Formats: sequence, C-alpha cells, structure tokens
Amino acid sequence: MAILSDEAIVLGARPFSNTSLIVTFLSKGQGKVRLVAKGVRSAKSRVGVGLEPASENHIEWSRRTGSGLGTMRKCETTRVYQRLWKDYEAMRVASRLLKILDVVLNVDEGESAHFWLLRSSLEALEAGAGTAGMEGVFLLMLLKTMGLEPGLDYCAACEIKPGSETARFDIATGELRCARCPEPAAREMRLRAGAVAAMREILRLSPEKCFSIRFAASLGPEIIGCAEAFLQYHGGKSLPRRSGHSSVTR
Ligand SMILES: [Zn+2]
Repeated sequence: MAILSDEAIVLGARPFSNTSLIVTFLSKGQGKVRLVAKGVRSAKSRVGVGLEPASENHIEWSRRTGSGLGTMRKCETTRVYQRLWKDYEAMRVASRLLKILDVVLNVDEGESAHFWLLRSSLEALEAGAGTAGMEGVFLLMLLKTMGLEPGLDYCAACEIKPGSETARFDIATGELRCARCPEPAAREMRLRAGAVAAMREILRLSPEKCFSIRFAASLGPEIIGCAEAFLQYHGGKSLPRRSGHSSVTR
C-alpha cells in the first residue's frame, strides 16, 4: 500500500454510495488519479466544496499496487475559481475542458504539462478571458503536449507556404495541403487561411500566454473541428459531444 500526495484539480465526481464519491483528479506530477472519497457526501463533511469540478486541492491518498482506484485520506482545498460559479458561459467552457482531459487521459496518464495547461485555462476564465476561442486554443495546446503538433507552415506536397486560399488539413498525417495540390487525402478538413494563421500563432505561444490570443469568432468552429478530429484520430477516443448545457452536477 503506497501513500501518495500531490496538488490536483478536480476533473469530475460521481456518487459512489450514500456518503461517498468517486472523484477524478488531474494531479501535478502523477497524472490522472481516481479516488474514493469516503464520507464527503454527508452533511458533516468539510471537504465537499473542494470536490466540485475545477477546484484545486492538496490531496493525500493510498493505493494498492495494481489498482486503478485509490482512497482519499486528506483533502485541503487550495483554490476555488469563483467566477465559474457565477458565469454560466465560463463554467460551460471549463466543464468541457475538464471532460476532454478526463476522456483523453487514462488513470496514471498525464504529465505536468497537462496540469499547467488546465490551470492556465482556468486562470484565464477566472480573469474574464473571452470564451469563444478558448476550446480551440486548449485543444491545440493539448495536441502539442501530446507531441501531436500539426504541421501548418508549408504544404506537405509542394512545400510552399499556403497563401490566402483555403487549404486542407489531413487529419491522419497532421499535414497541410494547399489549393494548388489537389490530390485528395483520405481524411481531410478544409481550413481557411485565417484559421491556419491563427492555429500557427497559437502553437507558437506558451500555455501561460496562449489564451490571450484573439482571432475572428467565425474561425472558432473550424479550429475546434480540425483539432478535435486530429486528436480523436490519434488518441483513439471519442471526445464528449458539445452541448449548450452545463452538465456539471453540483
Ligand atoms: Zn501545395
């Protein structure tokens, strides 16, 4: 039985019994962690608020070798992003980012880069950053942390920088094809020049700076669609479907 501790952000929680929850965290140094939190649903529990989605905690847990489920021993809440609970749109976006990470990472998977990316997204939301382009930026940065950075500088066929025309992105190879090279790829998506430029710019920024980028709202769906398709193709997992409704359970 190992005793472990770390800083961790709550990705989600679900009831386990009348008094307990199963809580999924993204820890700073130990990837995704899933724990039984005993007694936290009872009225006497003091850690309840710390187990809401996006809350940050210092947690201590025990775990048997080979088990994917540990037991929470201590939970000290270090940060609650207040704005998320007052701003519906901010919470909707935060919930989506938490769910994406929960789906993409298996238990024990994830690096500190994932933690820092999530934290800087939450900090940007807390600071009132616009939410329109955020998911696209997050997905691109996530691809980068996974070593799946799309190649957007040159057309893969003619090696010329695509101009103002619409290019195509091959989601199998992560490469771009310009309009002059019509040879179709098996799985491709159209990207307008503005979207290509915005994506290139995002990928140049650090996780701390990336959410300050501004681009036309109309490019958002293209960027998200492209990053999502690439991530799904290589991650082998279906991302949760987008909806206009917050599905966070309080
Ligand atoms: Zn070309």
